[in-house]
Amino acid sequence: MKYYSLNKQSPITDFKNAAIQGQAPDKGLYFPEKINSLPADFIKNIEKYTEEEIAFRVIQPYVGDSIPAADLQQIVSETINFPIPLVQVNDNTWSLELFHGPTLAFKDVGARFMSRCLGYFARQGSATRGKKVTVLVATSGDTGGAVADGFFGVEGVEVVILYPSGKVSSVQEKQLTTLGSNIHALEVDGTFDDCQQLVKRAFADAELNQQLFLTSANSINVARWLPQQFYYFFAWKQWQNKEHPPVISVPSGNFGNICAGLLAYKSGLPVKHFIAACNANDMVPVFLTTGNYQPKKAVPTISNAMDVGDPSNFVRILELFHHTLDNLRSVLSAYSITDEETKAVMKEVLQTHHYLPDPHGAVGYLALQRYLQEHTDSAGIFLETAHPVKFYDVVEPVTGQPVPIPAAVRAIMDRKKNSTQIAPDFSALRDILVKQA
Ligand SMILES: *Cc1c(COP(=O)(O)O)cnc(C)c1O
Repeated sequence: MKYYSLNKQSPITDFKNAAIQGQAPDKGLYFPEKINSLPADFIKNIEKYTEEEIAFRVIQPYVGDSIPAADLQQIVSETINFPIPLVQVNDNTWSLELFHGPTLAFKDVGARFMSRCLGYFARQGSATRGKKVTVLVATSGDTGGAVADGFFGVEGVEVVILYPSGKVSSVQEKQLTTLGSNIHALEVDGTFDDCQQLVKRAFADAELNQQLFLTSANSINVARWLPQQFYYFFAWKQWQNKEHPPVISVPSGNFGNICAGLLAYKSGLPVKHFIAACNANDMVPVFLTTGNYQPKKAVPTISNAMDVGDPSNFVRILELFHHTLDNLRSVLSAYSITDEETKAVMKEVLQTHHYLPDPHGAVGYLALQRYLQEHTDSAGIFLETAHPVKFYDVVEPVTGQPVPIPAAVRAIMDRKKNSTQIAPDFSALRDILVKQA
């Protein structure tokens, strides 16, 4: 499988180079030249396959000969070594729980897959000019934890995570700062934008890039994007009513997850309709209504992992639908849900159905109900993208009840934070990175 840049100004490349580079030299997103078509009998008999077999079949065509089958098998099995159950919430609604991974959010799958691919390429050496790989990432919270955990102990890869001091939740901070080994947490005395600025300067610094092999782990990387297709196949495996495929509602921010779902659909997965569930950041709902795409500055909400004003993966969705609005509209609807509605629905779902969604899942649930009210012959799934405990500061005041803390989180909260404080100053970051080389 080859990949081209959506900016069309870079040479085509293979999975290995696309994953190592992250972004194409022309700053475009990589996109596969062909969409794989899965055999009808595989889709029909999906219950006969294990999760590992399903994941391997889905991802292998996109990896091609960049990774031999046996190694890819190993990577896949390490990526999905936790359950992804489909749980019924009401008569026509199910929750696909994507939060049973080590950092309690769906980003674990993408981060685990990508880290192991990069680890494999680093061991091969040639693509990284024989150098150790340093992954540099700025986080506002969720990404950092998934990347830290995903890369922890991966040989040949060092990880440097920058986060804004005092601006991530206490669970998130512990996930970033307590692993040690090849994971280095830099606590920046500044904002998330400062962190991102520092990372951008490091990538642009020619001298630094001579000494180190720097790469990023953000969500536009094909090795993080493509494995997210697994969720949709696992949902289908567990969906009982195969005669009537589900509507799937996806809490969306950067639109990587839902774009993977749409790719799965184009590969032959039965889905009745997709819903992009958005918070107040409503560029895509507005676009689907008016045909007008207006990026905006993100507004803060209680579902903060979706506070994105110009979703980077949206161009991939347009490419999948050949930039034709009517094609897209026949498969995708979008709803914008306010914080007040999100809070009310969390409370209602808990009281009526004894199920507690996190704020992101709650947006997905309500968007799905809106659609189902107008399509009463349908049933659907919302993706529950995070465990509510990750956002207990929002959830507890709403429900008036403590969120039970899973054992894994309790263990992490007792560990000692280990971070290096730095000023929002490039020379400070530079010195630290050079020491890694
Ligand atoms: C990242 C994230 C999202 C948004 O996913 P995208 O792929 O960026 O659309 C939704 N919910 C949670 C909990 C997240 O961490």
